[in-house]
Amino acid sequence: MKKITCFLFLFLFIGNSIFAQEKSIKNVIVMIPDGTSLSALSAARWFQRYNHPEITKLNIDPYLCGTILTYSSNAPIGDSAPTTSCYMTGYPSRAGWVSTYPTADSNPNNDILPVDTSKAYQPLMTVMEAARITRNKALGLVVTCEFPHATPADCMAHSYSRSKYEWLAPQMVHNGIDVVIGGGVSILKPEMKAFLEKEGYGVFLNDITHFQNYKGNKMWALFKDTDMSYDIDRNPAEEPSLAEMTQKAIEKLSQDEDGFVLMVEGSKIDWAAHANDAAAIISDMLSFDKACGVAFDFAEKNGETLVIVVPDHGNSGFSIGSNKCPQYSTLTKDELFGPISKFKTSADGLVRRLQQTEASKLKEVVLELTGIELSDREYQQLLECADYNRSSLTNEERMKGSKLTKTAAQILDSHTCFGFTTGGHTGEEVFLAVLDPTSNRMTGHHTNIELNQYLRQSLGLQQSLESLTDEYFAKHTRVFNGYTYTITTQENVPVLEVKNKKNKLVIRPNTNIVLINGQEHALNSVVVYVDKNNTFYLPQSLRKLL
Ligand SMILES: [Zn+2]
Repeated sequence: MKKITCFLFLFLFIGNSIFAQEKSIKNVIVMIPDGTSLSALSAARWFQRYNHPEITKLNIDPYLCGTILTYSSNAPIGDSAPTTSCYMTGYPSRAGWVSTYPTADSNPNNDILPVDTSKAYQPLMTVMEAARITRNKALGLVVTCEFPHATPADCMAHSYSRSKYEWLAPQMVHNGIDVVIGGGVSILKPEMKAFLEKEGYGVFLNDITHFQNYKGNKMWALFKDTDMSYDIDRNPAEEPSLAEMTQKAIEKLSQDEDGFVLMVEGSKIDWAAHANDAAAIISDMLSFDKACGVAFDFAEKNGETLVIVVPDHGNSGFSIGSNKCPQYSTLTKDELFGPISKFKTSADGLVRRLQQTEASKLKEVVLELTGIELSDREYQQLLECADYNRSSLTNEERMKGSKLTKTAAQILDSHTCFGFTTGGHTGEEVFLAVLDPTSNRMTGHHTNIELNQYLRQSLGLQQSLESLTDEYFAKHTRVFNGYTYTITTQENVPVLEVKNKKNKLVIRPNTNIVLINGQEHALNSVVVYVDKNNTFYLPQSLRKLL
């Protein structure tokens, strides 16, 4: 009997461990707090604890497990375009380049890794594109910036210039993303909206009610003309929180039986850092942490979901403590976190209010929104801002001068003891937090390229991204070798026409629709055109249409 019991236990033990090994990943959620140095995480945690002593931890905390080295192809300090590109494709690229193979630096010695010059400008397949094309996964993007901004564009579009929204936006519209929630109403042109509606999407622009109540699973919901508000300035009747957007995206995407890949970006932690605005950094970081809580809760219950939280780069040299405050290292928690806890606005939001305020009421409004009693000198500084006036200038014209914004940010900053070394990006490694239902959880220090490999493995991509790039982004000269083809410019758009006997193929860039003998044919990927080398990048399978 004893023996049998032993065997039984042994069997259960082995059985259990085999079972544990077999867990697989169906869904992946990548959470990117943009431009977030570790100090932003620390400041947010302290701030929360100061205001809610019972909450000593962030939602991210239990999952923190390592750091990631992130850089562009030829410099240790990257911007969002090449850094998230690398997470998505496995290749770091040049400043401003979106999921596109880099050119070599003019001094190749500056390239962090060797660059193959024959691949310059090559659009690179992303893990999200590959997950849809090869594994039929549903895809989602949730951001607070405008939707074609660098980080979301890196996931589902390709260009050597992050500022070319006229190329990136239509690529994203045509790339089969099931759920997009973010900013950028003014960027979604009528023809893009019409295309999405024809494809069966619910498209909601500045329409929180339909965003909240829509029953369909395919949705584009955009708020604000470009970027959404900082969380501290957000009107919940008009704009959802990042947590609510994340919840909604998961609710829709998890209906797909093949699983999903979702990228959620806390886009404007980065913008707040650029503005050296500590209150906006902290409040957007806490808003992002709530969204992480939603993702972790779903993943813990679901059991087949990988969640990765990782910034794309550091920003601003933000620090808790600054030598502008005498003996700052002995400041109490009240001295460090008391003043900023009274802020009810970002510097941006304060400026918008000041612009609507009579000069005689400036002090009153600043006190109401920040708890700061302006000195006469500070009051004078605001009055002397070139762009502060209540003239007939439009709001947009007024906002072009950044002087009031800068002055307001400096005044707010001078009443706290947080420090900044720069208004730009920084090159330190970034934190990593992971919930992995399998035994392969990534821990320790890794590179941006290794993070991409982890994503590839976790998604179980059978075909390599390199071979998918070759199959879906092949040069037109190779695909149509032996056929007659021409590239002409029609209404400023390059058009590729290919002929073979009686068949004619007409191809325009930044869409998944081609015309074969005048009939629309939908591709499973987007066509990319690069003017630098006058080349269309498109699927090899197009040759078979002729
Ligand atoms: Zn960034």
